[in-house]
Amino acid sequence: MKKRNGSESSPWVLLLFCLSMCAVLAAVIFAVGRMKTANKADAGSGTEDWTEAETVGKDVTGDETQTSDTCAGEDEFLLLVNRYNPLPEGFSVSLADIGRGHKVDGRIYGDTEAMLRDMREAGLSPVVCSSYRTEEKQKSLFEAEVGGYLADGYSRAEAEGAAAGWVAAPGTSEHQTGLALDIVDESYQLLDRGQEATPVQRWLSENAYRYGFILRYPNGKSEITGVNYEPWHYRYVGKAAAREIYDSGVCLEEYLGCVK
Ligand SMILES: [Zn+2]
Repeated sequence: MKKRNGSESSPWVLLLFCLSMCAVLAAVIFAVGRMKTANKADAGSGTEDWTEAETVGKDVTGDETQTSDTCAGEDEFLLLVNRYNPLPEGFSVSLADIGRGHKVDGRIYGDTEAMLRDMREAGLSPVVCSSYRTEEKQKSLFEAEVGGYLADGYSRAEAEGAAAGWVAAPGTSEHQTGLALDIVDESYQLLDRGQEATPVQRWLSENAYRYGFILRYPNGKSEITGVNYEPWHYRYVGKAAAREIYDSGVCLEEYLGCVK
């Protein structure tokens, strides 16, 4: 009897062993993935040139095109625009003026104004330095970047490839949606890592979600977003989504299940 029980239990022992080996393997794969992400983020946050436009990852010329159909959120404010998901064909937006030559999607005017007003009432001095951009504006920013490489002796093709690593190509910038804002502190207007320590960024990182905005390119998510850490770039996604994203610490691609 005893022997019989023993022989019955051995498949279970084997199963348990297999399960624990799978768990160990999964943990190792997860840990390696985390290390890769951290290394990439570190590499992207150091001494690189920061530009007014989006800085995107290097590998943008591959054939990894993903149609926006597969990655659009159901909500109208969950439009995903990145190097894999260009603006939809024929995209148009109705704009509202927020002053000093800046415009946003008219539907987010109220929340944008409320956020900026509450910041000022809290004694802060936010400065919007970039908002809606036309296709032409994005193109000129991109071409300026290309020009820098041409001056360095790159061929046209090489220059475009290199520039695309630092400035979003026309049609792939969130600023063309009217849902993105670059906000800096009046006392420190450089678009670099130092921006995160300003009173304005500290307030935004804790409160922007209340108005429907998220920090779009968080530190440590560069490998997923394709954009280096930008403490100044805020994106409107609606209040419910913004709260969930803020609470969970995911980036928009992860929230939408659109990680490449
Ligand atoms: Zn931006």
